[in-house]
Amino acid sequence: NGAAPVTVIGLGPMGHAMASTYLDRGHRVTVWNRTASRADALVARGAHRAATVDEALAASELVVLSLTDYEAVYAVLGDADPAALAGRVLANLTSDTPDRARKAAAWAADRGATQLTGGVLVPPSGIGEPGSAAFYSGPRDAFDAHRATLEVLTAADHRGEDPGLAALLYQLNMTMFWTALTGYWQTVAMAAANGLKAADVLPFAVDALDLRPFLEFYTPRVDAGDHSGDVDRLTMGTASVEHVLHTARDSGVDTTLPAAVLDVFRRGVAAGHGADSTSSLVEILKRPSA
Ligand code: NDP
Repeated sequence: NGAAPVTVIGLGPMGHAMASTYLDRGHRVTVWNRTASRADALVARGAHRAATVDEALAASELVVLSLTDYEAVYAVLGDADPAALAGRVLANLTSDTPDRARKAAAWAADRGATQLTGGVLVPPSGIGEPGSAAFYSGPRDAFDAHRATLEVLTAADHRGEDPGLAALLYQLNMTMFWTALTGYWQTVAMAAANGLKAADVLPFAVDALDLRPFLEFYTPRVDAGDHSGDVDRLTMGTASVEHVLHTARDSGVDTTLPAAVLDVFRRGVAAGHGADSTSSLVEILKRPSA
């Protein structure tokens, strides 16, 4: 494919980093953004500013979409000339739900375009850097045809044909990321309430959030439905979360997060899992919340 032409629609921090990386690598880059001025720095470096979405679509077979959500995707592409959409491969790196990714793929297919759903696993600073990664799903032939251009941004891991799959894997990733990171923010708030700085927490935060040994231990057991309480018990976990909640309360900080965690633990005990491992909470979390 060489340095194939590429269009980038959506110049938030992520789309901007992507367009910038393509310029660095010698691609002919066409950009469009609702707020046109966001393209100025890229245009100064040689990017072509499309005056309309249709022009942006016409410029390249591969069109990278980096928008806030799929509502924005429809806001941008909804009025596009069907002739401009036909034959395009839309690498939709916009985050949203698997269902919305599937609907958008069908929407694109109705217009003769192909959506490759992508979930980018690095922040804008990681685009074009070694070690960056993204999940992709959708038609394999379209992925293979544009793989080299997509891999300018991140390593590209095609997981399957279902256009919802990359969105699902991305949201699974974000489930861990946001909940764990919020746990860290809670920790920093509690530390601050007790006169400690984030820097005082760092030395043990890194180890506390390295959950690899736990994940590796629990994975085969969880997949086998084995929640035996041979190494940990939910009653012990519940008492421990209570200590966290009480420490938060005594520190005068927000207790929403530890209270929510305690609620899940207590429901596990109430469901009869007290003597089982904390992994039994998976069975509680599999059900819709009341
Ligand atoms: P932003 O939310 O900052 O991107 C905003 C882009 O969407 C802008 O180009 C904005 O246009 C456009 N937009 C939003 N609503 C509309 C609309 N109604 N009509 C037209 N354009 C619209 O996100 P990022 O750039 O940070 O990220 C882009 C995507 O990548 C998101 O889905 C995000 O979840 C995902 N992502 C982001 C990461 C990050 O660290 N930033 C990491 C991994 C994935 P305008 O400039 O005119 O406002």
